[in-house]
Amino acid sequence: MQAIECFGPQQALKSNAAILRREIIKRSVATNWADARAEWFVADIYMADFDDYRTCLCTKEHIKEICVLHNSFNQNEVEVGNVCVKKFMNENAQKLFDGIERIKHDINCGLSEAVAALFRRRRIITEWEFKFSIDTWRKRYLSDKQAAARVEINRKVLANMAERKTTHENQENVGGSMSHD
Ligand SMILES: [Zn+2]
Repeated sequence: MQAIECFGPQQALKSNAAILRREIIKRSVATNWADARAEWFVADIYMADFDDYRTCLCTKEHIKEICVLHNSFNQNEVEVGNVCVKKFMNENAQKLFDGIERIKHDINCGLSEAVAALFRRRRIITEWEFKFSIDTWRKRYLSDKQAAARVEINRKVLANMAERKTTHENQENVGGSMSHD
């Protein structure tokens, strides 16, 4: 069936939020927005390449900053653009992208707590690296050894983000077929 666009920009914006809600509810256990939304957490974040921009679950195209949201009840996963995540899903997502931007801008900066926690949960960094990051991320002066360890951790995180941008599949499936188990 062909979708017909009859809306101006204002209404289109509104309908993006409506689409996101509908699509999230469709993939959730709960059937109302407030409960459905609470089932999801940020499982992963990554930056898409210029030639590989993504489409948000709300249908907005050319998304560069992507959050992979995981449903802890039914294990569904979706990709949502950073803007939608911040606005409608999980306010902490901004912290994650800010933390990544900081180390991309300067590899000598500390890994923020939010990013360290995410990448520890994903087992990309070790428990030692996680604790080291938490203890030192605000410090501007480190020993040579500490500074080297920090750079190594940052490189690990960035390399992992880059690695995965080619492995994420586009979400073409909807509803029940999204289930991973
Ligand atoms: Zn969106």
